[in-house]
Amino acid sequence: MYRNFRIVPNIIFGRGAFNQLDDVIKHKRTSSESYFVFVVDDAFTGQPLESRIPLKGRDLLLRVNVDDEPKTTYIDALVKQIRTYHFEKPVGVVGIGGGSTMDIAKAVSLMLNNPGSSADYQGWDLIKFPAVYHVAVPTLAGTGAEISRTAILTGPEKKLGINSDFTLYDQILLDPDLIAGVPKEQWFYTGMDCYIHDVESLQGTFINEFSRAYGEKSLDLCRQVFLQDHPDRDDKLMMASYFGGMSIAYSQVGACHALSYGLSYVLGIHHGIGCCIAFDYLDEIYPEGVAEFRQMMARHDISLPRNLTKGLDQAAMEKMVTTALGLVPLWQNCLGPDWADIMTRERTMELYTRM
Ligand code: NAD
Ligand code: ZN
Repeated sequence: MYRNFRIVPNIIFGRGAFNQLDDVIKHKRTSSESYFVFVVDDAFTGQPLESRIPLKGRDLLLRVNVDDEPKTTYIDALVKQIRTYHFEKPVGVVGIGGGSTMDIAKAVSLMLNNPGSSADYQGWDLIKFPAVYHVAVPTLAGTGAEISRTAILTGPEKKLGINSDFTLYDQILLDPDLIAGVPKEQWFYTGMDCYIHDVESLQGTFINEFSRAYGEKSLDLCRQVFLQDHPDRDDKLMMASYFGGMSIAYSQVGACHALSYGLSYVLGIHHGIGCCIAFDYLDEIYPEGVAEFRQMMARHDISLPRNLTKGLDQAAMEKMVTTALGLVPLWQNCLGPDWADIMTRERTMELYTRM
C-alpha cells in the first residue's frame, strides 16, 4: 500500500514576502469580529519584526517561549488562554518562529477544534476534526516543520508528534530575510537538522525516487550553504529545509534522529544540537555523511558539547536507550528489517556512553 499524503497547498517565497502577510491572510477576515492569533517566538519581543506583524482589530499577539521544546502542557495552557480571550474561535493562527514555534502554532490550531488534551493526540492520525486555518512564517531554516505533517511535542509519557493530515499548514510564507539575523551556532544546528534529514533519507532502506529527488536537491543546497560562499545562502537554506522535509515525508529519518530523541527526552537537549551530537558518533552507519558534517563544523568553527551522559544514573541511561529503540520505523529505515539484531541495547548504550 502506498501512502496518499497531503502537502501544503499555498506557498509564497521570496525576500520581503513578509510584507505580503496581511494580503495573504485577509480572505479569512470575513466579519468585524474575525480575529487572528499570531503565535510569535518571544525572541522577537521588541524587535523590528514584531512591529511588522499585521495586527488588526481584535487580533491576539501570543508570545511563546521556546527555551524548552514544546510540551503538551504548554499547548493546553495556550489553548485555554485563547478560549479565555474570546468566546469565539479565531479565524486563523499564524506561527512566526523556528521549528518549536511552528509546532506550537500547529498544535494550537488543532486543539482549538479538538476536545481534550494535546497529549491525547500524540501518535498517528488520532486527530478527529480539521484544525483552524494555520499559517507558518519560519524564522529559522532546517527542521522542515513548515511542510511536515507532524507537530512534535513532549508529553507526560513520551516525545512524539501529533501526526495527521490536519496538522499540515494551509499556507506557508518563506521569506529568507527573516533568517538573516540568527546567531551562528543556532543557524548551524538547525541547518544540520536538514542535512541529516537528507543523509538519513537518502541512505535509508525506504528510499524511492520521490524522496531521492527532493533529498538530493536538498543535500546539494546544504553543501552550497555550508561548504561554499554564496550571497543568497539564506534563500538556499530555506529551500533546502523545504526539500529535506519533502524528502522525509515519503521516507523516514534514521539512527541519528532516534538517538537524538533519547537525548532530548532525558536531558532536554534541543533537536538540532541533539542531532549534531548524535551524528558525530555515527561514522559506522553514515561514514560519508559524518565526514562531510565534520568539514562543515570545521569551516564554521563549531564545537559540540561532550560528556553529556557522564554521571547519569543507570535508570536515566536505560530510559534513553528505550526511547531511542522505541522509534522502530526509524531503525527499520536505517538498518532494514533485522535492525534489532544490529542495533542492540548494548550497542545503543555504548553509543550514549560515548556522548
Ligand atoms: P527553535 O524553534 O527551537 O529555536 C531555537 C532558538 O532560536 C530559540 O531560542 C529561538 O528563540 C531562537 N530563534 C528563532 N528564530 C530566530 C531568529 N530569526 N533570530 C534569532 N533567534 C531565533 O529551533 P529549530 O531548530 O528551528 O526547531 C527545533 C524544534 O523543531 C524542536 O522542537 C523539534 O522537535 C522541532 N522539529 C519539528 C519538526 C517537524 O516536522 N514538525 C522537524 C524537526 C524538528
Ligand atoms: Zn530533524
